[in-house]
Amino acid sequence: MARKKKKIDEERTHRKFKEKGGFELDLRMKREAITDPFTEVPPAEEMTVFLRQHVGPEAKPLIQEGDFVEYGEKIGGIEEDEEWGVPVHSPVNGIVKEIKMMEHPVSGDEERIVVIETEDEETKPYYDPLDPKDVTKDELLERIKEAGIVGLGGAICPTNVKLSYAKDKVSHLIINAKESDPNIACDVRLISERAEEMIDGIKLMAYIIGADNIVFATRTQEGELPEFENLLKREKNIDIVRVRPNYSIGYGRLLITEILGKEIPQDTHSYDMGALVHNVGTAYAVYKAIREGEPLVSRGITYYSKDIGGRNLWVRIGTPVKHIMDFVDAPAIDFERVALGSIMMGPAISDPSIPITKADSGVTGFTEKEPHPYEDKTWCIRCGYCNEVCPMDLYPQLIMKAEKKGDKKRLRQLNTDVCIDCGLCSFVCPARINYRPILSRAKSEM
Ligand code: SF4
Ligand code: SF4
Repeated sequence: MARKKKKIDEERTHRKFKEKGGFELDLRMKREAITDPFTEVPPAEEMTVFLRQHVGPEAKPLIQEGDFVEYGEKIGGIEEDEEWGVPVHSPVNGIVKEIKMMEHPVSGDEERIVVIETEDEETKPYYDPLDPKDVTKDELLERIKEAGIVGLGGAICPTNVKLSYAKDKVSHLIINAKESDPNIACDVRLISERAEEMIDGIKLMAYIIGADNIVFATRTQEGELPEFENLLKREKNIDIVRVRPNYSIGYGRLLITEILGKEIPQDTHSYDMGALVHNVGTAYAVYKAIREGEPLVSRGITYYSKDIGGRNLWVRIGTPVKHIMDFVDAPAIDFERVALGSIMMGPAISDPSIPITKADSGVTGFTEKEPHPYEDKTWCIRCGYCNEVCPMDLYPQLIMKAEKKGDKKRLRQLNTDVCIDCGLCSFVCPARINYRPILSRAKSEM
């Protein structure tokens, strides 16, 4: 009886929950991190900014070595006809030291970075604020593009493109505040600390696309975000929906199904089905770009390691991971592995001088006491557990076989391209097979 009550309590407070396939994820680390307010990390002496930080073509350098650049100034530009292009901005006032190649933490390829020597910490907005009453919706979209805003939930699609495609087509804008990763809490902090700005950013996005209904999807319990919830009471067309805490529901298409009960066929865009999902952090970036004239040069992240716990940090894009770890008094050298991102999804980085990009919501440090999940891998024992837990009902072990053979036809038959990179298959595999590189190779082969 007592055990049953404990289980119910744990589920109610979202400390533990069962995923598809029946295994449990422990959320205590997230709940502890939620109470830690953002601390601003001062810029490093040298900032390193990738010229490609989104799904789309690399920005072209607009600067040369020796140039002085201002905070928020464009350092990477795009051609007019590059629909999926997104500019990149300087996160500091400083001098361009060099433009060189560095291994990109997401693509794994050598890509161009701009190294800037920081002169000062000033953060004066680069553009003039816009009043939506005085400009057209297209001008607002242009500002969102010019400000370099991309989806901050991890998908990193250009926000202006997503909004343009959905304009006048959708009835529902779903704001994804689900924040699935078990050790990341920066989105919830953002909502509690910058509630008013957040709501304004959400309303701006709904205004641009002409959506009448806004759904704010959160895993938080009633009363956990008091200021935000009070402000929301004044908003007639924003409904707060408390979704199950399950990890995979954070993926946009699954979230739409969870909330609206609509299945989105794989070959269909969500906006063709009347709904668009945007992350909360993106809504805040839209607010900053339009109301304050600030391009996307900083974001919230959560640093996590077992000894320190979760720390919410406001960092400038281009800050080296090493600088962040020194700031929280957890030098990279003390850790066996460092992941850029969460426990579940973050790729391990080989070099702590790699910087934070727009895609990164966290930095996670693992000591040598925490066993390496993919060391001493064995043969697949055909237990089928990877398929059982896959939220997209894929067969990872069959994909692995087809990828090894380079069998593109089979990879297509296995719907490899619908994989959402959630990492669950690797997380549960008793043979310790790391699927991330296998799946990304398989998808790029296709
Ligand atoms: S979980 Fe691992 S061992 Fe089991 S079938 Fe999948 S790949 Fe093979
Ligand atoms: S990473 Fe891809 S294949 Fe693995 S469980 Fe997630 S969706 Fe399925």
